[in-house]
Amino acid sequence: MGETMQAWAVREPGPMESGPLVRVERARPVPAAKQVRIRVLACGVCRTDLHLAEGDLPARRPLVVPGHEVVGIVDEVGDGCERFTLGQRVGVPWLARTCGTCRFCSHAHENLCATPTFTGWDVDGGYAEYTLVNEDYAYALPDRFSDVQAAPLLCAGIIGFRALRRTALPAGGRLGIYGFGGSAHLCAQVALAEGASVHVMTRSTSAQELALSLGAASAQGESAAPPEPLDGAILFAPVGPLVLPALAALDRGGTLAIAGIYLSDIPALNYDRHLFQERTLRSVTANTREDGEEFLAIAARIAITCTVTPYAWSAADVALNDLKHGRFEGAAVLTGFEPS
Ligand SMILES: [Zn+2]
Ligand SMILES: [Zn+2]
Repeated sequence: MGETMQAWAVREPGPMESGPLVRVERARPVPAAKQVRIRVLACGVCRTDLHLAEGDLPARRPLVVPGHEVVGIVDEVGDGCERFTLGQRVGVPWLARTCGTCRFCSHAHENLCATPTFTGWDVDGGYAEYTLVNEDYAYALPDRFSDVQAAPLLCAGIIGFRALRRTALPAGGRLGIYGFGGSAHLCAQVALAEGASVHVMTRSTSAQELALSLGAASAQGESAAPPEPLDGAILFAPVGPLVLPALAALDRGGTLAIAGIYLSDIPALNYDRHLFQERTLRSVTANTREDGEEFLAIAARIAITCTVTPYAWSAADVALNDLKHGRFEGAAVLTGFEPS
């Protein structure tokens, strides 16, 4: 079948213990019009990959290759490409394609596109030696970030940034962050650089220590009350019951944004304790390309640092399992891709 490559694919979604990810050999993808092919150098491991592997999110395609925080080198371009040149380093994010014509795309809400395509869910992603991206959805990456540092910015970073904006946090506001993994620790750095006072609620004591070392004003248990009322809060942990203490911690008029693509069920709310006084509960769905460009520019300006745990890409299943069990702080990134 011509040139081949090695990749990981989701065979049968199920608990990590059942081995849902398998190594496969594939034909090296050939770019169609407007697509560029990327030789992968690093790929971040996102919680969404875990949800896909375990079936929390339904599979959209059999044997899809996960991975949507992809850093690599353009090694082949399809017809009509003009944004990137051969050899240029680019990033491939979650948002692979939008229709451009639906009512949401037409009104600057392409994150809500009625027929979107996502990397590593609808189309093959970056747990592979090569992947494809439509050039209009790829990002040029700031030079100051290494491949491994840049990878988590492409989903964890961008989604955390959109979640922060969805809280409508006022200048100098008090922000609560529930759960403190890859996305949260990047988002916290943006909020702190913008003058927010940040309170972190997480079970892991090492995550609490990371939060304090980054400049958080306080860190406490996952459902503990922060030391002051919050103007805004973000729920990163995919744990529905945490919506209640997060809403209860909001000051009058405060906003809670739920950052994840998946959340376990939310228990019944009490109107007085959780919503009255004009508190707002919002979700965060994907992102626009504008969010991505804005975040990458801010990340470069404030010299954001990602706490990274590298894994050989041949150990992608181990990385996902460690993510499931909270065995590292910050973000896991697959490296060491060797073209076959
Ligand atoms: Zn659309
Ligand atoms: Zn992601």
